[in-house]
Amino acid sequence: MTEVRYRSDIDVELIDHMGGDHSIVRAARVSSGTAGTPEKDRGLLNMLARDRHGSPFESVVLQFKVECPIFVAREWFRHRVSSFNETSGRYKVLEPEFYEPHGGRPMRQIGQPGKYAFEEGAYEQKVQVKAAHKRLATWAWDEYTEMLDAGIAREVARNVLPLSLYTSFFWTVNLRSAMNFLSLRWAHEESTVPTFPLYEIQQGAMKVEEHAQAIAPIAMEMFNKHGRVSP
Ligand SMILES: Cc1cc2nc3c(=O)[nH]c(=O)nc-3n(C[C@H](O)[C@H](O)[C@H](O)COP(=O)(O)OP(=O)(O)OC[C@H]3O[C@@H](n4cnc5c(N)ncnc54)[C@H](O)[C@@H]3O)c2cc1C
Repeated sequence: MTEVRYRSDIDVELIDHMGGDHSIVRAARVSSGTAGTPEKDRGLLNMLARDRHGSPFESVVLQFKVECPIFVAREWFRHRVSSFNETSGRYKVLEPEFYEPHGGRPMRQIGQPGKYAFEEGAYEQKVQVKAAHKRLATWAWDEYTEMLDAGIAREVARNVLPLSLYTSFFWTVNLRSAMNFLSLRWAHEESTVPTFPLYEIQQGAMKVEEHAQAIAPIAMEMFNKHGRVSP
């Protein structure tokens, strides 16, 4: 019997990228034909973010490999202005990797739908949640492998696997669309428009932002300065 593995992380690896602050400035300057200095370029990036001149930010492209549970991927895939390629449960036998919430993951929701606040939850609740995740994962994995052993097609056997199963996908996104993702998926203290994202997708968004920050630091600075609104 295969041993089931548990994880709590959302892994975001930068695979490739194109451009940076310079390519945003270069694209924007084609409209006026003016030359820049580092100071003027900074001013231009500030103006583009402030006044929501969005298309120059599309000159930066990022490609990530994301590993996360299916319930997180399902939310990620809603970001249509980007491209996805996901591991197939039809073409390969899936990995026995399942999500279990770590001890710091808030467990109790209070307030209205769409505007929940979260509390840590009692020790007994954490124990109950972990046990339920593990019980279901091992049961589902046993059923899955028993069906494969009986010669049943992968695409049929996988139907019994829960949303907590890890999946992996490539995500190719331009910086403008990544900013939209970050504005919605991270309840950041500098956001002028509030959002109430799922805890786990926010963990992924934080890692996406770290990479974007390294690739286009001034553009990301201006995104933050102007309230984390997608230009
Ligand atoms: C906190 C939170 C809760 C959510 N809850 C739910 C929920 O309960 N149920 C649910 O179904 N979804 C839910 N969503 C998903 C949400 O409705 C969006 O689908 C998701 O956030 C992607 O955002 P987006 O459309 O801006 O991104 P993208 O799809 O990447 O689109 C980027 C931008 O392109 C433009 N655009 C793209 N497609 C169109 C179009 N067809 N027509 C016009 N303009 C378009 C828009 O300006 C859009 O902002 C939730 C999202 C968040 C952040």
